[in-house]
Amino acid sequence: MNWFKRFMVGRYGTDQLSMALMGIWIFISILSRFTGNRIINIFYIIMPIIIFYRIFSKNIAKRYQENMKFLRVWNPIKNKVKTKIQRVKALKYYRYYKCSNCRQTLRVPRGKGKISITCPKCKTVMIKKS
Ligand SMILES: [Zn+2]
Repeated sequence: MNWFKRFMVGRYGTDQLSMALMGIWIFISILSRFTGNRIINIFYIIMPIIIFYRIFSKNIAKRYQENMKFLRVWNPIKNKVKTKIQRVKALKYYRYYKCSNCRQTLRVPRGKGKISITCPKCKTVMIKKS
């Protein structure tokens, strides 16, 4: 593996964008099996070229910038999904309401019967079942 280490010196390597592209490529490779769509097949052939080009690229600054652009789009989506998953997991213990005045999401413990909820943002009081 020494030759490979030497080969990779000064090259960019993998990053989140390459990993995402690989994930998309795997998805496309499955899709191309079932559809036989020409555009999908073209992507199936072109994507590995782009992925390897990025990994072995010596223009590290450019690749880094591309990854940053990707992360600026990807991170908010990832966080949103993470929040949704956490919320589904917490449904056993908490109930979620939206403030009738300002739409702020409010979390209250489950199983406490009728409770009054005060919105921390706008101080609106609501009576809800928990
Ligand atoms: Zn409110």
